[in-house]
Formats: sequence, C-alpha cells, structure tokens
Amino acid sequence: MGKKDFHTCMMEEALLEAQKAFDEGEVPVGAVLTYEGHIIARGRNQMERLKDPSAHAELLCIRSGAQVIGDWRLLKTTLYTTLEPCLMCAGALLLARVSHVLYGAPDLRHGAHGSFINAFEKKHPTHSLRIEGGLLEGESADLMRKFFKQQRSRSETVDRSAL
Ligand SMILES: [Zn+2]
Repeated sequence: MGKKDFHTCMMEEALLEAQKAFDEGEVPVGAVLTYEGHIIARGRNQMERLKDPSAHAELLCIRSGAQVIGDWRLLKTTLYTTLEPCLMCAGALLLARVSHVLYGAPDLRHGAHGSFINAFEKKHPTHSLRIEGGLLEGESADLMRKFFKQQRSRSETVDRSAL
C-alpha cells in the first residue's frame, strides 16, 4: 500500500465517523488519529447530543487519543478530519503537538487553515505541524451539503405546518 493510499483509507475512516454524526442529526464531521500507521482514536461531532460547543470531532478525537497514549503530548501522530479545523481545534492540535493534519473540505465560515483565519501561518519556535487539505474533499463536502439540505427541508416543513 502506497503512502497516498494509506492517507485515503484513513480519510475514509474519518468519513465513516462523519456519517455516524449525520445519522445522529449532528453536523457531519468525523476524525481519526493515527500513530505508527494505526488508528488509536476516533471522534465525531457531538455538539447537539452533549450540548457542548467544544464537542468537535477533532477535539474529542485528540482527547481520546491522549488517553490511549497516556500522555497529552500526541507526538508523531496524524489527525485526519473531514473538515478544515476551526480555530479552537487548531489551537488544541498545536498544543497537543500533533505532527500532521490532513483534512477534506474547506470550512469557509470557521476554517483556521486560511478559509476564515490562518492559525498555522506562523512557524512555531519548537514544534512543527504540517497541515494539508483536499483529501476526499468531494465526499466530505457532499455529506455536508446533504445534511444542510435536509435541515432546510425540515425547517420548511415546520414553517408550513405553523401556518
Ligand atoms: Zn473545531
């Protein structure tokens, strides 16, 4: 299996997490964390269920990964997430010292890799984090579109019944 194929497989796993979020009525974002070629943690957006504005897929994934590793330092790990990380998650990824982040679709409203703001622009003095977008971007964006379309049609149904 080539390097690129491995990344694609891992992003497919992140997409499975995103699909679970979708099925639970959450904005469909999923993430997996790998260490030495193995998945050590998974996460999916659970903001609605947990009523927690910080319950993003990436944050839950790195929290769970830190428990598995037994250290808050997630050195030499790679995080795959279906959506460009927000500013909060970008901060957490930097603090956790994750080495590599690969994401799917850009997030025009909250993306912290340049779409809204760029938290990765400045090179950190002691730690370097590599971040790249566009991996299975179409699949991730399609799932988001499908989710918001469904949300819209639901609210339209509610509006009509209120008349
Ligand atoms: Zn986030």
